[in-house]
Amino acid sequence: MRVLIAEDDSVSRLVLRKALEEMGYSVLAAKDGEEAWELFQKHPFPLVISDWMMPGADGIELCRRVRSLREKGYTYFILLTARDSKEDRLHAIESGADDFLSKPLDRAELASRLSVARRILDMEHRLREANEELARQKEELELKTQALEMSQEMIQQANLRFRELFENVPVACYTFDAGGVIYEWNRAAALLYGWQEYEVLTCSIFDTIIREEDRELMQELIQRVMRGDGSTVESVDRCRDGSTRYVLRSLFPLHGSAGEVVGGICASVDITQRVEYERELRALNERLESLAFTDALTGLLNHRAMQDHLAEAFARARRGEDTFSFVLLDIDHFKRFNDTYGHQAGDEVLRLVAQVLQDNTPSDSLVSRYGGEELSVLLPGYRLEDAISVAENLRQAIAATPNPYRQITASFGVAEYMPYMHSPSDVVEVADAALYEAKRAGRNCVRPLLGGAHRQAA
Ligand code: GH3
Ligand code: MG
Ligand code: MG
Repeated sequence: MRVLIAEDDSVSRLVLRKALEEMGYSVLAAKDGEEAWELFQKHPFPLVISDWMMPGADGIELCRRVRSLREKGYTYFILLTARDSKEDRLHAIESGADDFLSKPLDRAELASRLSVARRILDMEHRLREANEELARQKEELELKTQALEMSQEMIQQANLRFRELFENVPVACYTFDAGGVIYEWNRAAALLYGWQEYEVLTCSIFDTIIREEDRELMQELIQRVMRGDGSTVESVDRCRDGSTRYVLRSLFPLHGSAGEVVGGICASVDITQRVEYERELRALNERLESLAFTDALTGLLNHRAMQDHLAEAFARARRGEDTFSFVLLDIDHFKRFNDTYGHQAGDEVLRLVAQVLQDNTPSDSLVSRYGGEELSVLLPGYRLEDAISVAENLRQAIAATPNPYRQITASFGVAEYMPYMHSPSDVVEVADAALYEAKRAGRNCVRPLLGGAHRQAA
């Protein structure tokens, strides 16, 4: 430890210095108070031993000056003195002295005073370290508090943003727990469903928007959300006024601070208009499709539709599933009719005959306007004999139908699918050949193509 001594008497100074050095102290000695003060200012000492009575600045003055210098670390100040009056000592202590050494110097006393000094300096040192540590901890705590305040503010900001987004997003949103109880309900949800937030908070979605028939599915979806899985489904929701809306419903899990799922958030986009458009479009398409397969004048299937049905029936028969027969009929002397009564009247007759066919064919048969004034009937499952009797019935029905102009008749050709036929047109050709036979036979009659003629046509 470094010690500064101030002593004007050179012998005493030497004795003190020697004694201190022998005890292991590193000593700097000044010959009076002023010199000691100079040295102290350059580099403060933890321990000063100063004579009381010195010319210039005496020991008391030196002590006062040392105390006035508020340096880091304490300086233990011992006054060397022969004065031992109570007043003197009190005065010295008030000036900042810590202890006294009697003159002339006694080595044992010096040693004991120094051990007190060391103990006090050591205590002071530890106290200072503890203080510094405390100050450091305080600073750290302040920093942490500051950081906490900042993150709290950020959380608050994020919360605010989320609330703004939740409230203003133009999609119906609500949050719910595992039991389907509603906890938040945004403006768009109020607009879509008609319930205000205060009316549905803590109510179950099953008592409000979820229809009874969707309960099970929704419960399943909530369970999925509680397991951490989202889902998106198209659904129908109930509104306050009892009406329903189509929605595209997306469910996502909501997590707590420990990462656990605490509930879900649902965003439902109103797709009612889209669904309605789609429905209209589908109906329009269906109508277009039926138009494409319908003859405008008679309302019967058109040629193309009949080709399709023929192809199907032919394929089925080919697979050995079911045979079929095909009847082709042609109005007799229709050209003459047109020439006599006009095309318009001819159209009327065509419609009339079409109606007779519709009314007198079996329910599973398909009637078409095969072309011009040629009509056809496809009879699935019919063998030739039964098809002939269907044709005969039709022939009689046409002939018996009253007509504002003149009696109308038609000729019929009938064909049944045969295994040697290669395509649907083979069946049509046979029916056409049979029809030709009927015309040749005098019209208003039914002809199947049989025997050699049959094979010839094929
Ligand atoms: P056949 O007894 O030999 O069949 O005599 P036909 O006069 O009916 O002879 P053909 O089959 O050659 O004549 C068909 C006529 O059918 C010609 C045409 O004026 C008439 N026709 C075809 N399509 C229509 C139609 O959509 N409306 C009307 N009014 N007439 C049609
Ligand atoms: Mg014809
Ligand atoms: Mg004709």
